[in-house]
Amino acid sequence: MKCIRCNTNEGSFSFKVMEVHEEYVSGKSGFLRSSRKPSQKIQNLSDMKEFCVCDACIDKKLQATMNPWRDFLNYYKVGAVLLVFGIIILVNYGGKDTIYTVGGVFLVMIALLRAYGYFRKAKAKKDQYMKMSENNRRFVSAWECVSESAPKRLGNHSVYYIPLTDATDRMTREDFSRYYKLTPENADEFYRIVHGSEKKHGHSKVVEPVEEDLDEREPNTDLTDED
Ligand SMILES: [Zn+2]
Repeated sequence: MKCIRCNTNEGSFSFKVMEVHEEYVSGKSGFLRSSRKPSQKIQNLSDMKEFCVCDACIDKKLQATMNPWRDFLNYYKVGAVLLVFGIIILVNYGGKDTIYTVGGVFLVMIALLRAYGYFRKAKAKKDQYMKMSENNRRFVSAWECVSESAPKRLGNHSVYYIPLTDATDRMTREDFSRYYKLTPENADEFYRIVHGSEKKHGHSKVVEPVEEDLDEREPNTDLTDED
């Protein structure tokens, strides 16, 4: 199976995933109470799918996480434009005209805050990666490739994916709701799918809160075994 990211190499790392569809139905704001309708989010479990990622793409993703400087310029285009404009304004009009001075300082501040925000987030992510084993780092990077490259829309549905891993087996219905934002009904159904038709009990493992900025739909590395 071809790699979902580059679509060139043969994938070396494969994920079995559950595809989840979500549709947002906007409400009505009628004059009469009976004609008003709140907006609604409709969520459906779709099918199991498989995605593969190649080693080269995993390496690239992992390198980007471990060396956030390299991706910075890519990310910082808007910030750079603001910074340049701010500096030009300050150099030409700074001190002469209050409005221009304030505007210039404002642009420079926004640009600097944007850079600060990027590195704060990048550092938090890197710190988290540093705590993982090399295997787990590759695993999470592979999943990042999938979640970035797999289709996110299908008609008027938005689509996201839940990976099936060893950790999924140990998760409770509440975990599914919490980590993957499944509705209670879908969490029940997903639990049944994960565990086959046999009913298992005693899955009441308490999961510690995860302190992270990362998307919670990423695999929960806190649930996978660390060495
Ligand atoms: Zn690839």
